[in-house]
Amino acid sequence: MRMILRPLRWARPAWTLPVLNLLCVFGLCAVSGFMLWDMRRDAERRATASARSLVQVLGRDINRSIATYDLSLRAIVDGMRLPAVMNADPETRNLILFDRAANAENFGHTLVLDRTGKLIISSRTLTPEPLSYADREYFQYHATHTDSGLHIAPPLMSRITGRWVLVISRRLSDPDGAFAGVVLGSIYLDYFRQLFAAIETDHAGTVTLYGPGGTIVMREPYDEQLIGRSVSATDSFQRMLETRQGLFTGPAMTGEGTRTFTVTQVGELPLWLSIALTPEDIYAAWWQKAFVLGTVFLSLCATTVVLTALFQRELLRRKAAQQNMAALNAELQQLATTDALTGLSNRRRFDEVLARECRRAARVGKPLSLLMLDADHFKSFNDRYGHQQGDEALRLIARAMQTALHVQSDTAYRIGGEEFAVVLPDTEQAGAETVANRLRQAVLEQRMLHAGNPHGLVTISCGVAAQSIGTSDNAAALIAAADKALYEAKSKGRNRVQTAVSTSRHFPHTASPCI
Ligand code: GH3
Ligand code: MG
Ligand code: MG
Repeated sequence: MRMILRPLRWARPAWTLPVLNLLCVFGLCAVSGFMLWDMRRDAERRATASARSLVQVLGRDINRSIATYDLSLRAIVDGMRLPAVMNADPETRNLILFDRAANAENFGHTLVLDRTGKLIISSRTLTPEPLSYADREYFQYHATHTDSGLHIAPPLMSRITGRWVLVISRRLSDPDGAFAGVVLGSIYLDYFRQLFAAIETDHAGTVTLYGPGGTIVMREPYDEQLIGRSVSATDSFQRMLETRQGLFTGPAMTGEGTRTFTVTQVGELPLWLSIALTPEDIYAAWWQKAFVLGTVFLSLCATTVVLTALFQRELLRRKAAQQNMAALNAELQQLATTDALTGLSNRRRFDEVLARECRRAARVGKPLSLLMLDADHFKSFNDRYGHQQGDEALRLIARAMQTALHVQSDTAYRIGGEEFAVVLPDTEQAGAETVANRLRQAVLEQRMLHAGNPHGLVTISCGVAAQSIGTSDNAAALIAAADKALYEAKSKGRNRVQTAVSTSRHFPHTASPCI
């Protein structure tokens, strides 16, 4: 029985496959990691780009509105210098001083204060109440500053309407430069609220307009609690003032955590716009995609690793089965060529080895000798001591022979019932005779009693044949010559060695004395 499992050559060495697979898994992980990182950067780029364009559009819009209103204030300042205007009746004067822009829906009352802060002219009435605005920040500013530029005050609650307003104002000066009063206009903060509400509703983050002193003018999403609150003490507000236009990340000005601020100054005005994005605002969509992609990638990698492990286990299992099978085959081979009684190699092995050695000796030009050995009077040993004792005697003969063979290439075989053979490679006839006598002596020294043998002990006879150098190989002729010599040793009295004289391939015999 000989089972053949084909070796898996392509799968060797055993670690190649798992290592390649792990490299593939690492490669996949690296590529997916890079993709996710790139997508994350892209999400950040898109969020900040849309925030940038939004603050720019809002900034331009607010700047344009304030510039338009400021033109009205300038017209009033110029008109107040003309005696003809000031001497006209109140209705005519108001018509000249206040153009339609000053009465636009988003703009509140346009007022003129005298040098004491008392309201003297109003765009909405011909007979204004004599309220005093001397305590207002903008009045005190103009009273103490000679510059005639536009001034913007922090948001405040209007005394007339009770609504939050952003006041813009200009100084009135006498021809000699002395303070003569203030022209002011108010913009309802609702205007900014509507403006912020009108922008894309799906924009991310918080849009905030800051006024002088870091006060919050408007915020989207709207939170009334925050209107008028100053954030000037926060690090991020200071950084916004330095940045003027651009992008930075810092702590939130209101609330917790960090924000990515996209900021711009509104024209040259003391107003700043920001869009503050939380990391969630920027990465919310990315997180969703990353979760799905990451799950798919990890599942694929895990599946690959598991399949590789299973495949590797199967390979190892098959390899172990192959090794078992090879060991079994070797054992079977050993059994098939071993004699069960003595443990020596058997006749089948003897035929193989002798044929091979004959060929080799002829090919390389080396001598080769063969010994044929046979236990003397063994039939009568069996008859007298029984078959079991006979088996034991055969085992002892085999052991004695093995002990007496000193060269590893000299091997003994049991080739029949009580018949043995020894193949002696690279051994001339003289050497072979020496080995034969040593074997015969070794058996004798076992001192196995054999009353049927004239020597009183178990003995063996031996026929020696040598294949001369230069002759062609012929195992059968060698066996026949050794056999013939053995027959002769028997006939000459047993317990002796007989050599076949090798002249060419006919092996005539010469007797050698019993030792
Ligand atoms: P000779 O000296 O001429 O060789 O005489 P012999 O009796 O040894 O020769 P013969 O060929 O007549 O008998 C061989 C005997 O060896 C026959 C058998 O009883 C015995 N024999 C052969 N094989 C075995 C074996 O395996 N075990 C045992 N116990 N005896 C065996
Ligand atoms: Mg025999
Ligand atoms: Mg015999």
